[in-house]
Amino acid sequence: MTLASDKTQISYSIDKNNIIRSIDTNFMAFAKANGWDSAESDVIDRHLGEFISGNEIKLLTEKLIDKVRRTKHPISIPYRCDSPDARRYLEMRLQLFPDNQILFANRILRVIPQNLPGYSLLRSTNCEDSDCVCSWCNQAKLKDDQWVDIDVAIRSLDLMAGNPELKITHGLCNSCQAALTKASE
Ligand SMILES: [Zn+2]
Repeated sequence: MTLASDKTQISYSIDKNNIIRSIDTNFMAFAKANGWDSAESDVIDRHLGEFISGNEIKLLTEKLIDKVRRTKHPISIPYRCDSPDARRYLEMRLQLFPDNQILFANRILRVIPQNLPGYSLLRSTNCEDSDCVCSWCNQAKLKDDQWVDIDVAIRSLDLMAGNPELKITHGLCNSCQAALTKASE
């Protein structure tokens, strides 16, 4: 599949076995802006699942893919993907192409500048048995099982102090889990 180059869109496609076969030029630029410095060859010909952290979200993504193949109808789902200097609201659209290929087109809907120096610390920490950030809406779970906005969490968890004990993993908050489950059924 040849991907169109549209500056507001980040696209990639998978084949019938969910192997990533193409990515557009914006993809690597976006990845780099998110602190993920790697080459196109690190992505192409690898299974989509390798790039999704968390079993729950992996399973729901598979269900969404199955639904698009089954119904042949595209699915669009909003999500959030921040950087240290901006809140970014995006929409992911899954669309079926011949031979059961799926195109993932991620469109940036809205960007709100912010200044969140502790953010990179939050993202780079990665462990089991830990505090949790929702992969989908970017809210963070506090000790009392409450999901709050990431900047609230950063203040509350004292990330700015560089707490070395902090462990963060990615999962799904209750409302995103419900929304994604509904979308995949
Ligand atoms: Zn969420």
